[in-house]
Amino acid sequence: MNQDQNPLTDTRGRGLRDLRISVTDRCNFRCVYCMPKEVFGSDHHFVPRQRLLSFEEIQRVARLSTHLGVSKIRLTGGEPLVRRDIEVLIEELSQIPGISDICLTTNGSLLTAARAKNLKAAGLTRVTISLDALDERRFAAINDVDFPVSKVLDSVDYALNAGLLPVKVNMVVTGHLNDDQLLPMARHFKGSGAILRFIEYMDVGNSNGWQLKQVIPAGEIIRLINQEFPLEPVGANHAGEVASRWCYQDGSGEIGVIASVTQPFCHSCHRARLSAEGRFVSCLFAEGGFDLRALLRSDASDEVVVDTLSRLWSLRDDGYSEIRTEQTVGLKKVEMSYIGG
Ligand code: SAM
Ligand code: SF4
Ligand code: SF4
Repeated sequence: MNQDQNPLTDTRGRGLRDLRISVTDRCNFRCVYCMPKEVFGSDHHFVPRQRLLSFEEIQRVARLSTHLGVSKIRLTGGEPLVRRDIEVLIEELSQIPGISDICLTTNGSLLTAARAKNLKAAGLTRVTISLDALDERRFAAINDVDFPVSKVLDSVDYALNAGLLPVKVNMVVTGHLNDDQLLPMARHFKGSGAILRFIEYMDVGNSNGWQLKQVIPAGEIIRLINQEFPLEPVGANHAGEVASRWCYQDGSGEIGVIASVTQPFCHSCHRARLSAEGRFVSCLFAEGGFDLRALLRSDASDEVVVDTLSRLWSLRDDGYSEIRTEQTVGLKKVEMSYIGG
């Protein structure tokens, strides 16, 4: 089972390093670009509990995936903090030899000061908190549940104080919803200790009505911020880092841009995803993925699971963002809330 001698790569020579695990498809927000109310309304059928992967199953996949090269885990969703006792899962994951980094992406709404400390104590390395606007009306129009900005800002402070570092703040920039928030967000987080990252709006799933014209290109984002706060590029922290990094010339911190649409980074994509119901997905834009839960719930040995994952990865040729056109937008794809960002 040991792949150390012969590292596993896909058909394009990419190794598997990161596993993004969606622990739930549920969320207390209804962000219009992710879980619009028209699609995720009160009659929406979420994955029933018995079909969600248990903590034991998630832990097993994580442990076995280290044999394929995984060293980093990101917990996501839906909203991962709505999954009960997630601290217990984090503690189990942190004890797996070979896992050196456990991150969590959250909307921040359920992160109290005490919870941030508990997550850190359980073994969480760091958090990324999503916030798309500082203006209350803009933010409410995006989260669509009237959630206040101040509570998310508090959660950033709780994470910083708990040492869940580096704390990153994700802002998805869309031309029709929040492009006027770019500079206010940059002003607010400059010098705060949190790293603001601007994400180009993507055509994930089939429910958000994405249009290319709504994407604000990373180059434009950098140009706008540079006009007010001069920036200079910084090298990547590690090979395969998705964000390109820029630092403020006055030394007051850095920002990142994730240009998935205008500057695709498929050539260095080392991520696989595990959906809340246990589908193994090798690309954010995949159609459905492989039903790993069925295998886990059969009598399959660890060897069989590792062999299956290795086969899936070695056959992988994904590169959706490199071939995205207006024509590919209509393809059937997994929703973001099932597989996480
Ligand atoms: N609920 C958590 C949150 O919002 O942070 C975790 C799950 S959410 C799907 C993960 C990240 O994906 C968030 O930062 C969110 O803003 C981002 N995201 C969701 N839909 C997106 C889209 N269509 N394009 C780009 N990013 C998106
Ligand atoms: Fe929920 Fe996160 Fe999707 Fe917003 S982006 S609806 S917070 S899962
Ligand atoms: Fe990776 Fe697929 Fe995104 Fe390309 S489109 S970076 S292969 S997840």
